[in-house]
Amino acid sequence: MTPSKVSLAHLPTPLEPMERLGAELGFDPGCLWVKRDDCTGLAGGGNKARKLEYLCADAMALGCDTLVTGGGRQSNHVRMTAAAANKVGLRCTVVLASPEPAHPTGNVVLDHLLAPDIVWAGPLDYYGTEAAIEQACADLEAEGRRPYRMPVGGASTVGALGYVDAADELLGQLPDLELVVVADGSGGTHAGLVAGFGHHGRVLGVDVGTRPDLDEQVPAKAAEAAALVGRRRPVGDVQIDHEHFGDDYGAMTDECRRAIDAAARLEGLVLDPVYAGKALAGLIAARASGRIASDQKTVFVHTGGMPALFAHAYANWIRG
Ligand SMILES: *Cc1c(COP(=O)(O)O)cnc(C)c1O
Repeated sequence: MTPSKVSLAHLPTPLEPMERLGAELGFDPGCLWVKRDDCTGLAGGGNKARKLEYLCADAMALGCDTLVTGGGRQSNHVRMTAAAANKVGLRCTVVLASPEPAHPTGNVVLDHLLAPDIVWAGPLDYYGTEAAIEQACADLEAEGRRPYRMPVGGASTVGALGYVDAADELLGQLPDLELVVVADGSGGTHAGLVAGFGHHGRVLGVDVGTRPDLDEQVPAKAAEAAALVGRRRPVGDVQIDHEHFGDDYGAMTDECRRAIDAAARLEGLVLDPVYAGKALAGLIAARASGRIASDQKTVFVHTGGMPALFAHAYANWIRG
């Protein structure tokens, strides 16, 4: 059965040239582009909208009544899942791996507005968060509900299908594209793109420090996603830059700050400090080292995440 999807995102998203940033980084004219997946529309937009189109359809096909997922306090995936649930008429429970903050900021403001049932789980690592999501599902089942469990980042094989479609969309917009650079949180976006292109060499993921097992998970999910839609198993070796998240997930690094500043000041493009800023820092380093050549047609995927800029720590960092 071919997986179905519901319509949640504004698609296709624009593909825009970045001539001023490209020149600054030593790209030839016409070689650096940005895929505006921050403009998918759903409750502020971001990459999770494409995944949620498939995940919501799957949940409804299975007769589930509640979407269940989780993430860090400023999770974009949680915010967008709550919005998707409201749009399609499902209930939603989210696990946030944080104590409840005294003053809501950024995504948490939007979480309160979208009003899922929130479980404030206290500080948890990646695997602890996944376990807490499973526990929330078990609790709902005990109450007679039918939960649909989504892993952190919506990074199931079904979710990755949204980015198989995005790869097709990109090839329609820029048929001679050579490399796509994207932030790797859960790795589902990267995996879907690889499944769509059929080649690991087309995608450079920049690890943002969400999970420790990307090198195994991205190829595994890419192969599963390709199989699910009847495409050939992706060839080549997975490409992930693990050097650009700093000490930890969300860490404020000088390279990230320089990347965010360059995007803002040369392109008027606002990047978030947790994902897209780190991904652009990785792209800048790859260009500087020659890993990306000046004439390589390169697409930077802007995956969204702007609300995190309005969390206190980042807001103060930006002020400097
Ligand atoms: C979730 C997220 C990512 C990472 O996507 P994955 O598919 O989890 O790797 C990148 N950028 C933003 C803004 C996100 O919210």
